[in-house]
Amino acid sequence: MRIVVCVKHVPDIESDRSFDSGRVVRGSASGSLNELDEHPIEEALRILDRLDESERATSELVVLTVGPPAAADALKRAFQLGADVGILVSDDALAGSDYFGTAKAIAQAVRKVSERGPVDLVLTGMAALDGLGSVTPTLVAAELSWPQLTNAAALHLNPESARVERVVDGVTEVLEAPLPALVSVTDHINRARMPNFKLIMAARTKQIETWTLADLGLDAQLVGHAGARIRVLDAKPRPEREPVVLITDDGDGSGGRALAEFIINTELI
Ligand SMILES: Cc1cc2nc3c(=O)[nH]c(=O)nc-3n(C[C@H](O)[C@H](O)[C@H](O)COP(=O)(O)OP(=O)(O)OC[C@H]3O[C@@H](n4cnc5c(N)ncnc54)[C@H](O)[C@@H]3O)c2cc1C
Repeated sequence: MRIVVCVKHVPDIESDRSFDSGRVVRGSASGSLNELDEHPIEEALRILDRLDESERATSELVVLTVGPPAAADALKRAFQLGADVGILVSDDALAGSDYFGTAKAIAQAVRKVSERGPVDLVLTGMAALDGLGSVTPTLVAAELSWPQLTNAAALHLNPESARVERVVDGVTEVLEAPLPALVSVTDHINRARMPNFKLIMAARTKQIETWTLADLGLDAQLVGHAGARIRVLDAKPRPEREPVVLITDDGDGSGGRALAEFIINTELI
């Protein structure tokens, strides 16, 4: 069995993020594995943990990311969780990729991974915490012409098919698709494990494979700024919040009057 988990390197939410020509600066060292991508990794590990020893020995959990060189950090974190193989698709021509370009690169990389042996399943998170597009999984499935089962809250894998439970507006849908398939999972599907000492030590010896567009045989005109159908016209940090106005009351009703005056003066009514 071969499972590819797509992971994204996202800027640290706590850090100061910067923009250049309307783009997020992605090369910064203060990034990390998209937290929501720990769940597809965990799900893949659980599937592989259920295999017997000989099946596990011939199986692979491949983690794949498309991004600048710093995105390798997301793969290193995935190694610490137990991934076997890490692949970074990185090329200057990928800068400025929109959803379609990113999905093209991921899909082409999945095809290349299948040269190692058939890929049964591609797992993704439900969203990347920086872009929040929640669209990459669907586009990757479309590129591959594979069935997609999105936002799975439970996944049951059979030899020939994947079955998921999906909670939509109070209804639990049960959907099934033949393998190979793409499944995106929610953060409710499992509780992601913490890396242990043994895994952290093992992760140090694992090598990341870096593939360029030439390695993928992908035309640079189809990705990056050249292939983007979306143009980012502007992106700027959220303005500072207005200072908070604190109205106090000394027990003489002055607070109520001050509040009424504030509402009238700021034309809230
Ligand atoms: C090299 C590069 C350059 C970019 N340049 C620009 C730019 O100039 N302007 C701009 O607006 N956007 C840019 N982007 C952002 C890009 O459009 C989005 O990051 C991407 O399409 C994913 O959308 P999202 O972040 O909303 O992820 P979602 O669709 O919310 O992600 C859902 C899931 O898809 C998978 N996934 C998402 N992205 C990746 C990835 N890169 N690799 C592997 N798995 C992934 C993860 O499993 C994730 O949980 C760039 C991205 C890359 C990688």
